[in-house]
Amino acid sequence: MPMSIDVSLPRAAAPVFPDACCVCDAARPGSSFEAKGRRTSGFEFLLPWLWFVGPRVRVTVPACAGCRPQALASRRWRTVILVAWLAAALYFVMPWIKSFDLPRALARPLGVLAVLASTAPLVAWWTFRPPAFDLTVHKDTVEYEFASRAYALRFLACNPGARIG
Ligand SMILES: [Zn+2]
Repeated sequence: MPMSIDVSLPRAAAPVFPDACCVCDAARPGSSFEAKGRRTSGFEFLLPWLWFVGPRVRVTVPACAGCRPQALASRRWRTVILVAWLAAALYFVMPWIKSFDLPRALARPLGVLAVLASTAPLVAWWTFRPPAFDLTVHKDTVEYEFASRAYALRFLACNPGARIG
């Protein structure tokens, strides 16, 4: 199954990428793109404006000139699609929840749950069709996620102290 292979490194470590394009695996790609990520805790997930502020992790990822636009676009589109999806879900779900006339203390968390649950098809789609590269920032570690298993293993070999998963 084409799920991403995740390699985690301590957050303080500077990642070393193989000298190859992360999309097509061409050697010496000669160009790169910048990938940024920040830590989102479960709580912050409910406050989408927090996604765009605060400390970020920036890494420079090798990608050949031909693959660079694709690698950048897939990351950008995912954010746009997720934000649009959440906005649409809020727009449709909240009036529907309100129509049950539940107490406010119950309606709010129920609405949030329904909105989060509505993203399940998107999450499933992205799990099984991962982008060439993505990263997830945790408290002490950063997870570097690769669609290519071979590339992930080369990345692992370049970074002592890295581990799979
Ligand atoms: Zn390439």
